Amino acid sequence: MKLGTPKESFAGEARVAMTPESAKQLQKLGYDCAIESGAGLAAGFSDTTYSDAGVEVVETAAALWATSDIIAKVRQPDATELEHLTKEKTLISFFNPAGNEEGMEAAKTKGANVIAMEMVPRISRAQKMDALSSMANIAGYRAVIEAGNNFGRFFTGQITAAGKVPPAKVLVVGAGVAGLAAIGTSTSLGAVTYAFDVRPEVAEQVESMGAEFVYLDFEEEQQDGAATGGYASVSSPEFREAQLAKFRELAPEIDIVITTALIPNRPAPKLWLEDMIAAMKPGSVIVDLAAERGGNAEGTVADEKVVTENGVTIIGYTDFPSRMAAQSSSLYATNIRHMMTDLTPEKDGQVVHNMEDDVIRGATVTHQGEITFPPPPPKVQ
Ligand code: NAD
Repeated sequence: MKLGTPKESFAGEARVAMTPESAKQLQKLGYDCAIESGAGLAAGFSDTTYSDAGVEVVETAAALWATSDIIAKVRQPDATELEHLTKEKTLISFFNPAGNEEGMEAAKTKGANVIAMEMVPRISRAQKMDALSSMANIAGYRAVIEAGNNFGRFFTGQITAAGKVPPAKVLVVGAGVAGLAAIGTSTSLGAVTYAFDVRPEVAEQVESMGAEFVYLDFEEEQQDGAATGGYASVSSPEFREAQLAKFRELAPEIDIVITTALIPNRPAPKLWLEDMIAAMKPGSVIVDLAAERGGNAEGTVADEKVVTENGVTIIGYTDFPSRMAAQSSSLYATNIRHMMTDLTPEKDGQVVHNMEDDVIRGATVTHQGEITFPPPPPKVQ
């Protein structure tokens, strides 16, 4: 079978779902590989690097889609791409199944099999295919770099002949995958780093990375995230008030805030409010990684950088992985390659779409003309 990757059609998207390196591995699984001309350029992979890796370079998207049995891409397909689906084709991509009625209907009507990368179950066995995590890791790292680029001072403290410089103080709100990456980056740059999460079980991870976990003055325990499968649930009003009171206390001291707090299937909770922004020093920076879901900070504008009247920069970019397209393409392409390994048990270039397999079943959102989303919970954790 042939596995092809088109150039991403979404404006400004620089990632690509196949790299020359992943193509070599896919060929070892028995697949012929094809790429649309120019698909890897924005991520630093020229057509020649692909052809040197044994990949056929195809001139147009239409030809790529027409001749590929399996299509691997990054962003959910647009209307033109959906037209190319047929019942013989398998699409592997982010697909946003809960918010993409048009795509789900098109895939069902056309009879195509769709594997949605955001639906890979978060179980140990599937970590190597977990594109949400690989992309969140990059976003967390890049959020700190972006903050540094907009902050007019050092992260690390210094004693120099020209004067003593205090270290920057960074607060990371939400210590999931992106938050932990941000913490690691911030501590490695030498900033004094604080982190908060509603799930107390992350305190140990936060501390092991050299940051200080922020505890609340709250008589009840912090929420028990274990009860919700590792995800957060909505805080009680009392808990929220205690959290906001702590943030108000910290706001005048903190130079950089990285917010990553999300609750599944809900808008992002508002946690860094106008009065806290007003209390921050001029030159402080907020990077709101929850911007796509409405933002954790008041005043965040998705995809923009705004500067408040008191000189605080609020960054709401939603394309951090694309801003590091070489790295994110390498990791995403590896996630795809692992998915293909599981779909190819005989390593003979033939897809076996085994709906009894927890990971394949969990990620499949349409199969043989049926919508198979949402999936049943995985049997193994
Ligand atoms: P996420 O993006 O849904 O949320 C980010 C963080 O925000 C979470 O840690 C959450 O607790 C926190 N949060 C929510 N509301 C908050 C509030 N009001 N204040 C402060 N923080 C708040 O999370 P994620 O990064 O996708 O990770 C979620 C869970 O999944 C974690 O437990 C993670 O370890 C787990 N996980 C498991 C696997 C695996 O086993 N394969 C892979 C990835 C993640």
